[in-house]
Amino acid sequence: MRQSRLFTKTRKEAPKDEVAKNAQLLIRAGYIHKEMAGVYSYLPLGLRVLKKIEDIIREEMNAIGGQEIQMATLHPSENWKLTGGWDNIDVLFKVESRTGKEYAIGQSEEEIVTPIAKEYISSYKDLPLAVYQIGQKYRDELRAKSGIMRGREFGMKDMYSFHDTQEDFDKFYGIVKESYFKVYERLGLVAKATEADGGSFSKKISYEFMVLTDAGEDNIFYCNECSHCANEEVAEKKKGEQCPKCGKGTLEGAKASEVGNIFDLSRKYGEDFKLTYKTKDGGVKNPIMGCYGIGTTRLMGVIVEKFGDKKGIVWPESVAPFKLHLVVLDGQEGEARKEADRLYDELISRGVEVLYDDREARPGEKFADADLIGIPHRAVISDKTIAAGQIELYDRAQDVTKMINEQELVENYA
Ligand code: ATP
Ligand code: MG
Repeated sequence: MRQSRLFTKTRKEAPKDEVAKNAQLLIRAGYIHKEMAGVYSYLPLGLRVLKKIEDIIREEMNAIGGQEIQMATLHPSENWKLTGGWDNIDVLFKVESRTGKEYAIGQSEEEIVTPIAKEYISSYKDLPLAVYQIGQKYRDELRAKSGIMRGREFGMKDMYSFHDTQEDFDKFYGIVKESYFKVYERLGLVAKATEADGGSFSKKISYEFMVLTDAGEDNIFYCNECSHCANEEVAEKKKGEQCPKCGKGTLEGAKASEVGNIFDLSRKYGEDFKLTYKTKDGGVKNPIMGCYGIGTTRLMGVIVEKFGDKKGIVWPESVAPFKLHLVVLDGQEGEARKEADRLYDELISRGVEVLYDDREARPGEKFADADLIGIPHRAVISDKTIAAGQIELYDRAQDVTKMINEQELVENYA
């Protein structure tokens, strides 16, 4: 992509009412556009990052047997009235048609996935089953001050599973938990799983996946020796006390952001929607269901919060909008531009994701914009590098520059 043709430009200031670092940087760098508090549009750079996050999640969900679907966002109110959500879920957006008919806007999809599954599950032989989708969710959140980390419209992966026995559910639950850790690791993050109260419908164990960041809205206690971690809201042992799990470590306190959540829905939705199946011994039962969420847009915000610095965003390689940022500094003879154009064409022909800063702008402006945009590797071509027969390669995260030749660039960074 030639930067001179890019839809967006960087800007000096973020909107005055935007207090969150993630949104300030993402807006200034042209990744997102703020529509109103808690609602953002994703522009070319932002959408590229979001798609990469989604693809990592998609790969891991497919790897454990999840089947991708896309469910409706506009929901019949009847389904929500049946489950009790219509009156009990305060974040549920409700809309009324001009005909007087009422609808709910999807904040979660148990009310849709269960009736769909009812059409296809009739025997224990149809189980287990897991379906997921990646898309937009809508919640009437009271406060939306964390940029894209808490939206009224936001991205989520939500998966739902159906099981014959508790044992089978527990097994799958463990598999999903491990796959979540893989997702976070591939995104360059370290997540901790808190054991939490399972929400209003279930007393079963649930896990919240937390990434430590001061921008998070949760407070957690975690052991400095083992994997124990608990949300402050439910924790029995507090900061400074001995770890209840290993008995050796001490609990530390930290702010964290919930980037995923998995829980046991038990038979609640199967009962509500009369989703039944024939068991092996000829009986009739409701399946045990699990639901598994990951906040895709929140993750993007967390990554910006954790790795961003004074100069701008710093993307991990796995989600960067482009692999390489090629920057030309125009010199006297026009040689640098000729050389950069040639290299750009070469990289494109090799299928490399490269953003080429071909704008006629001062070096200082180009570097400041590149720092703000945050692509991990920057290749600079100037009269100086041409004279040296090399390319200047800058590592955004490490803040180090080295000279390499074209072959090395293509082999290692393209
Ligand atoms: P929170 O406690 O942060 O409100 P939640 O418990 O309501 O989250 P779930 O309903 O389990 O969250 O949703 C699954 C995931 O979706 C969460 O773990 C989080 O990563 C993400 N998420 C939830 N609400 C929002 C929101 N308003 N904006 C962005 N992401 C969200
Ligand atoms: Mg919530």
